[in-house]
Amino acid sequence: MSQSQDPEVVDLLQQLIRNRCVNDGSDTSGHEAASAELLAGLVARSGADIERYEPTPGRASVVARIEGSDPDAPSLCYLGHTDVVPANEDTWSRDPFGGELVDGEVWGRGAIDMLNLTAAMSLAFARLARAGWQPRGTLVLAAVADEEALGSHGAGWLVEHAPDAVTTDYLITETGGMPLAGPGGKLLPVPVAEKGSCWCRLRVHGEAGHASMPFRTDNALVTAAEVVRRLARHRPVAEIHDSWRALVDAMGWPPEVTAAMLDPERVDGALDELAAADLVLVREAHACTHTTIAPTIVHGGSKINTIPDRVDLDVDIRTLPGWGPQEVRAMIADALGDLAPRVEIVDALDDPATASRFDTPLWDRLAALAARFHPDGRLVPTLQVGATDARFFRRRGTVSYGFGMFSDRIGYDRFGAMFHGDDERIDVESLAWSAAAFEQLARDFLGG
Ligand SMILES: [Zn+2]
Repeated sequence: MSQSQDPEVVDLLQQLIRNRCVNDGSDTSGHEAASAELLAGLVARSGADIERYEPTPGRASVVARIEGSDPDAPSLCYLGHTDVVPANEDTWSRDPFGGELVDGEVWGRGAIDMLNLTAAMSLAFARLARAGWQPRGTLVLAAVADEEALGSHGAGWLVEHAPDAVTTDYLITETGGMPLAGPGGKLLPVPVAEKGSCWCRLRVHGEAGHASMPFRTDNALVTAAEVVRRLARHRPVAEIHDSWRALVDAMGWPPEVTAAMLDPERVDGALDELAAADLVLVREAHACTHTTIAPTIVHGGSKINTIPDRVDLDVDIRTLPGWGPQEVRAMIADALGDLAPRVEIVDALDDPATASRFDTPLWDRLAALAARFHPDGRLVPTLQVGATDARFFRRRGTVSYGFGMFSDRIGYDRFGAMFHGDDERIDVESLAWSAAAFEQLARDFLGG
């Protein structure tokens, strides 16, 4: 099970990277049809059934299935996305769309998010089909567009318009399985839940006037600056949820650190103390225990000699389980204090957190499988702080986890920095392991 080379998955990943399916959030970006064709070809040659969906020109997704013999047996979906975020070629050391193989690592945008897993899942599926594998439970492969925006041309659309094609009892997608070296040993974090998004537009009002006489004017930009400062400074109260508790219990910190990490009153102080040693991890830990606020875009002003009467601020708010629009409004009012009446919330996305149980047969199978690759590692449930397509499926009752099989070559914090960052790359051993693991998991979990 510890095969370290698999040229077929390396080649497939290189092709997916070179297809340059860059999603900048606009409806006409992505061009995922190229990778949909590539994967459809692979699956069709293996003899499995495949459907292609293209709700918007160029934004194609493919869904393939190997039908199980027992309708009562649990079904499993491998969900990969084919789009990637933009890359700035000037700040990369290599061509982000070259898919170069250098010193045992494949370089390129999407190498870890998540074309690596999409390639490994697709190849595992094709190999099972080629082998004439006949499972008891159905296996579905979905390679979808538009994960890097709102999923409205990909998973979100499929769940709404082709639910029968993509709904299964269990699902695996990104991002988990990257080894994390804790004081108490090696952990393999598996996201079982993810935070919600409440993206808000805040409108700050003022009064227009001539900028040559600014004394005591009501300048919306000046007020907005103070609004941004207060939002950035606001520290919402920490909350301890199940997945955080499970992670902290597994970390193996000294008892006094563990106790502080699980105490909403003391966790901020404990994280501050750890920040100097490992800021990447602390940033993630902070996001796991708080609803966060990040002001990201300002729109305002019209002319250099006019006092602006309106400024809009876009704010990325990520919510913990249990938070809805009402809690978010209360938090904003709390952060703004006496400025709250000056600020109008004109638009708010309501995309709440989702969670799956982790006392399931799939969890047990994953743990057994992981032990074959990492005999010294332990699976631990985590809260994903960013959004993935898993949320669409969890809302339909599908138990969804993030998982891949990664070698120890790339450390946990380096993975963190490469998601949407520069010089994204993956080692060939991790690719081989993921492809082998997805093939084995289907055999173990679906029978046959
Ligand atoms: Zn992703």
